[in-house]
Amino acid sequence: GGADVESVVAGLNERQREAVEHRGTPLLVTAGAGSGKTRVLTRRIAHLLATGDARASEILAITFTNKAAAEMRERVHALVGPEARFMQVSTFHSLCVRILREHHEAAGLRSTFSIYDAADSARLMKMVADEVGIDTKRTSERVLCNRVSDLKNELVGPAEYAERFHRDPVAKAVAEVYPLYQRRLADAHAVDFDDLIMTTVMLLRDNAAVAEHFHRRFRHILVDEYQDTNHAQYVLVTQLVGNGRDGVDPGQLTVVGDSDQSIYAFRGATIRNIEQFGDDFPGAREVILDQNYRSTQNILSAANAVIGSGQGQRSKNLWTDQGSGDKIVVNACPSDRAEAQFVGREIETLHKQGRAWSDFAIFFRTNAQSRLLEEMLMGAGMPYRLIGGTKFYERKEIKDAIAYLRAASNPDDTVNMRRIVNEPRRGIGPRALGSLLAHADTYGVSFGVAIAHVWAAVARELGQDPASTPGELAGFDTAQPSPDVVGLGKAARANLHAFWQILIDARAADAAGRPPAEILDSLMDATGYLGLLQASDDPQDGVRAENLAELHAVAEDFAIAEPDGRLADFLERISLVADADQLADVDDGGQITLMTIHTAKGLEFPVVFVTGMEDGTFPHSRSLGSASELDEERRLAYVAITRARELLYLTRAGTRTQWGTPMELPASRFLDALPPDVTDVRDSLTPTERIRAASPSYGSGAWGGGRVRSRGQRRIDRNRAGSSTPPTQPKTLVQVSRGDRVNHDTFGLGRVVETGGSGASTWAKVDFGDGSVKRLLLRYAPMEKL
Ligand code: ATP
Ligand code: MG
Repeated sequence: GGADVESVVAGLNERQREAVEHRGTPLLVTAGAGSGKTRVLTRRIAHLLATGDARASEILAITFTNKAAAEMRERVHALVGPEARFMQVSTFHSLCVRILREHHEAAGLRSTFSIYDAADSARLMKMVADEVGIDTKRTSERVLCNRVSDLKNELVGPAEYAERFHRDPVAKAVAEVYPLYQRRLADAHAVDFDDLIMTTVMLLRDNAAVAEHFHRRFRHILVDEYQDTNHAQYVLVTQLVGNGRDGVDPGQLTVVGDSDQSIYAFRGATIRNIEQFGDDFPGAREVILDQNYRSTQNILSAANAVIGSGQGQRSKNLWTDQGSGDKIVVNACPSDRAEAQFVGREIETLHKQGRAWSDFAIFFRTNAQSRLLEEMLMGAGMPYRLIGGTKFYERKEIKDAIAYLRAASNPDDTVNMRRIVNEPRRGIGPRALGSLLAHADTYGVSFGVAIAHVWAAVARELGQDPASTPGELAGFDTAQPSPDVVGLGKAARANLHAFWQILIDARAADAAGRPPAEILDSLMDATGYLGLLQASDDPQDGVRAENLAELHAVAEDFAIAEPDGRLADFLERISLVADADQLADVDDGGQITLMTIHTAKGLEFPVVFVTGMEDGTFPHSRSLGSASELDEERRLAYVAITRARELLYLTRAGTRTQWGTPMELPASRFLDALPPDVTDVRDSLTPTERIRAASPSYGSGAWGGGRVRSRGQRRIDRNRAGSSTPPTQPKTLVQVSRGDRVNHDTFGLGRVVETGGSGASTWAKVDFGDGSVKRLLLRYAPMEKL
């Protein structure tokens, strides 16, 4: 092993080398996309090891996705050899899981605490809202969850929030649910995603010994994509670095980022962290990189122009010495279907010319856009993988199976226990559920333990001694009395007994060191879950059974990667599978990649298609009313464009079906910013095609009838699609409610923020952006609901 220092810095430019070799003070590397920030981080780690300035175990690197972490580990390994495995490279979330598992007692958690994902959190929030009597039809559990998430990202706890003065009704509702939501999480021995960070911050703040331990352990901390850190993550970084007051010198911090690629403001990320780095860490050195090594000059010129067209953005000057390359293809297609076909045909042509399938990436702004693209690729028999949109882990059967595993692992996990107690059906209707909940309430035990009490009572009736089952398996202290649950029918009692016994058996198998895949199989068999799917005539159920087989394969892969991994470890792995992680799946180099732009961050592909370049799709309609949100969309466009290495396509559809309705959308304003000399503008819209595009039979069949013609160098007229055919939707004086998007003849696009009145005097307050909120009488307003 070992690596020589020269080979580690070989092939770096002057500034990159400077950043890699820097020692002593905090270091900030800022640079545009593709200029080698991530490469600098990787080489810097290798350099620390090669020079002997650090041991691998003293290094902590934080990346944005687990996939990026795996890649970094691999690259450092290639540079310095096996020592690399001792360094810690992880995402913020997986880092916090580790810290919390290691110090769970100090953090007030059980070692087997559950991690709730967004769907679990929403379910729990719904229960909490119902409990305090908040109408989730008015304020949905998702809205409540988002608000709580924002607060946690700002490190505002429930008590602090309750003390604030709240005028708006949603804020009042949040103040009411937040403490109870936290209490219910604690009852369930669970944390949600945002808690992972906040709880770790509290742990390090309140426990000097634990903090000092990490100060001694991590001497070098490196953070990629620093522009997308939120306040809580920033505080965590400062805590890990330390301030020297405990006698340990502060760790050496290196962060890299590009404020123009900040695309997570909607989740609380703030470029303040990058802009104020010098104030936060006095004496910091800043290295600015400017040369791009990823893309052709044409692609960079387009990126510069798009980012430069924003009001809040500084102008960008990405450059390369790789030459101008091919022009950027900008194409308007009659419909979303025709757009998909255009993309498919281009890929087919380029593939025939010798490009690998894995050279291609197709991006979209929202997941809903992926279906047509998928259908097109499937119809044409082209191999592809969909990142982020599959929602494999959100499919019902997968969630059920995981709920079984979680319920086995953590008997107090109420959300998951309730999910499966009657799944498949075992006669636990609302009344039986009510009895169990009342019992849990009366005796101050969890929902799961209420079931355990039924199990114990039935066991006693059968002449067995529940105390012969150890408490870790039974889910409660079997030496203590276990009062029976009143109000349950005989069948329900027998079924609950059998249900709990299945979970006990699963726990016993786990305690005996059986692999998670085997535990999964026995749960699915013993509960009859799999048998029901296999016996069903419904082809959907066949697919569901296959998906369970896929989950089994995931568990087997896990056992190969972590032979000693127990059920809790497997569940932890699953919880942290962020969307982008599916990228880490076996990639034989033979697939086209479909993904949202958000998940494409940090990646690069030889050929990139950015689809849906329409105003209202991208920029997203939701952003049109706010200058800051529009700026975030623009940065997203910049991220999309700068993923491309050689060829870039920007496509749009004259009509796109949204929520089942075909809508005509004008060209994206981001297309207007493109310099004409770097684009090859095509327009596939012929008058006949426009009419055909509007008819539902258009484009059926694998390649459909969408004959796409290149019509040479023609500028796209933004309003052309809109003026050539009548509007698809007639204007009606619609009923609108809060949150609806509307289009007003004079004021343009807006969002309803409040409604009131009734009958002819029904009014709506509409936010048209730029601070103009208007109160309009619906009866008279020339306005349509979108
Ligand atoms: P992003 O902002 O998109 O995350 P980045 O700044 O992290 O981009 P990298 O991914 O590190 O950029 O580098 C972009 C590409 O340029 C990679 O393929 C990398 O290997 C290559 N590269 C970086 N620096 C050099 C260099 N000095 N010589 C040759 N290639 C380089
Ligand atoms: Mg990078």
